[in-house]
Amino acid sequence: MVKLVNVHKSFGNLEVLKGVNLEIQSGEVVCIIGASGSGKSTMLRCLNHLERITDGEIYIEGELTDKRENNKDLMKIDPAKVQILCTELGMVFQNFNLFPHLSVIDNVTIAPIIVKKAKKEEIEKVALDLLKEVGLSEKKDEYPSRLSGGQQQRVAIARALAMNPKIMMFDEPTSALDPELVGEVLATMRHLAEKGMTMIIVTHEIGFAREVADRVIFMDQGVICEQGTPEEVILHPQEERTKSFLNKIL
Ligand code: ADP
Ligand code: MG
Repeated sequence: MVKLVNVHKSFGNLEVLKGVNLEIQSGEVVCIIGASGSGKSTMLRCLNHLERITDGEIYIEGELTDKRENNKDLMKIDPAKVQILCTELGMVFQNFNLFPHLSVIDNVTIAPIIVKKAKKEEIEKVALDLLKEVGLSEKKDEYPSRLSGGQQQRVAIARALAMNPKIMMFDEPTSALDPELVGEVLATMRHLAEKGMTMIIVTHEIGFAREVADRVIFMDQGVICEQGTPEEVILHPQEERTKSFLNKIL
């Protein structure tokens, strides 16, 4: 579904990604763990072209969408095509990022209406089904400020799903939540995983990763340091850096 080949990303002199190779198959649930500053968010942002890479190649659904060397373009990218491919990637952020001036239902329908020219009545039906799935049907006319963090994050998940993405990416979706609200968001994500959604999840919820991930990736200082099944990486890590990270957070 997505592939990164020798991806480097620098901000000025700071090299944040130092040659990342990663391929994710349809239906896979991949959890990414690693210390703050190791490049996890940057990697997700490069994947959906919120950031341009400085070196390497990115493929979405087999199509090359970015290829650079020394920060120079090596391909002629058709921006319209890349934009369409990027809508295949749904993204959920740590801080929900809902539109505060829009109701819940309008938050869910606005992107399909604007980006995909969806018909309002049709997408509202889809949105209601999605809100039901995340357990928020009765909140459809509320504004985000009247919802708990857990509810806001579930709206954000429904909003991303309304674009009908093939892959859902989550960047620390529960890190901003009070502890008692983490469970409801993880339950929603587990439900998505069980339905076969391809998912890339940056998380510090090691218990969740152990239960739900097909593969766990440990990132350290801009590279993938170790990866494997949850059992391999979490229970029997091979690399010293993985062991030391897990010791700190468990
Ligand atoms: P993580 O998500 O693993 O905590 P990030 O990908 O957010 O790590 O950040 C990795 C490094 O890149 C950090 O040192 C961070 O300060 C730096 N960084 C991230 N985004 C930018 C940016 N837009 N400009 C400059 N430095 C950045
Ligand atoms: Mg981050």
